[in-house]
Amino acid sequence: MRRQRNTKIVATLGPASCDPETIAKLFHAGADLFRINMSHTSHEDLAKFVNMIRGIERDVAHPIGILADLQGPKIRTGPMEGGKIELITGQTVAIDLDPAPGTTERIGLPHPEIFEAVDAGTTLLIDDGKLRLEVESKTDKTMMARVQVGGFLGGKKGVNVPDAVLPISALTEKDLADLDAALAADVDWIALSFVQRSAEVITAQRKVAGRAGVLAKIEKPAALDDLEEIVRAADALMVARGDLGVELPLQMVPGRQKEILRQARRAGKPVVVATQMLESMIEAPVPTRAEVSDVATAVFDGADAVMLSAESAAGKYPVEAVRTMDSIARTVESESIFRDTIKSVKYELEATPADAITAAANQVAKTINAAAIVCYTTTGSTALRASRDRPSTPIITLTPSEKTARRLAIAWGQTCVLTEDAKDLDDMVARACRIAFQEKFATPGKRIVITAGMPFGTPGQTNLLRIAMVGS
Ligand code: PGA
Ligand code: MN
Repeated sequence: MRRQRNTKIVATLGPASCDPETIAKLFHAGADLFRINMSHTSHEDLAKFVNMIRGIERDVAHPIGILADLQGPKIRTGPMEGGKIELITGQTVAIDLDPAPGTTERIGLPHPEIFEAVDAGTTLLIDDGKLRLEVESKTDKTMMARVQVGGFLGGKKGVNVPDAVLPISALTEKDLADLDAALAADVDWIALSFVQRSAEVITAQRKVAGRAGVLAKIEKPAALDDLEEIVRAADALMVARGDLGVELPLQMVPGRQKEILRQARRAGKPVVVATQMLESMIEAPVPTRAEVSDVATAVFDGADAVMLSAESAAGKYPVEAVRTMDSIARTVESESIFRDTIKSVKYELEATPADAITAAANQVAKTINAAAIVCYTTTGSTALRASRDRPSTPIITLTPSEKTARRLAIAWGQTCVLTEDAKDLDDMVARACRIAFQEKFATPGKRIVITAGMPFGTPGQTNLLRIAMVGS
């Protein structure tokens, strides 16, 4: 099954997309990966989501990626009475540790550590900074805050405290339990929220132990100071603009987005651009011009994937939102200016056989106008090197590993097909030609370029480049 674009789409699942029919529609509309937000999902629902996705995967016979997004040390309010309350600018409101639903008089904030870190004068930003409160007084268990910017407040909304350093670890007790559940459910990616230092990514990598890829969400100013090491330690990155835009002045987010994309691309690590990409589609069937331009910019900048959050999880038009992203990515990628833009950043090759063979394959494919580059891989690492170059020739990745195929769903330009390892050279060529034809990448008489490693089936051995002609 071939998508007509290289940029991948991540769709978050939630109440608007929690039945197999809707999830199948999201897949057919273009979602390549599904994100399960552990802030809002029970272990039981996680297992249900994974089962539904795996069922669809079997039906469509195409690998689908699943990303479990750990909440991290995110401070959230408790639930609200009737689902949401209204706080009026100028009023005061008590904030306490009580998990009972909040009212206009008091709201719950069940995080004792925050009560230690704040003082009179500390600003609390709620719901991506939409509401602003200032602490006027506090005790160990309650604070009184003045509402400086009011509005409607739903339950379990995020709270940012930009002027305080919170004494909390990157993997909370909840995260550790969620991580176990996610690994038991066999998800493909684990996203770490509020990463501040590379050491946190390394700790998570040890716990995950290769059972999933580890994606670091960049949403704290501190992470930007350690970005190079975080990129090195993580398997993928996310520009998490929701919290980043609360922790940093909003106008600084676009520049950071470009820097994160550039560093991740240089390292050949998949990078996802997330949050508010089609925000107005939560309520409306069509996006704004600015949103279309935002998605297009991420595609022009060579992001591996663009992501939908509430648009697909809780909006009125989840399928339309995926369809909209799909058509923006397809259109942008088909413009001649796209190739110029994406090629404007050149990355040095690493002195490895995989990089040398990959670069040669891309060049050969371009020179002979090949229909596809067929990449045999076990771990997926050679496939990621192929994506890194953003070649104009389509990439088909053949792997015997279901895990690898699913994990590569996040990566730019990857179409993965599960197949056994080649038995010998003839089999390698015949298999590559047959799949390129079956998957509608090449018609008889067209040439393909194959990369593989001999002896077959040994990981980390890419050492072979072959040109073949698809037979009739
Ligand atoms: P979240 O992460 O949706 O889990 O907060 C994304 C972001 O902050 O942009
Ligand atoms: Mn976030």
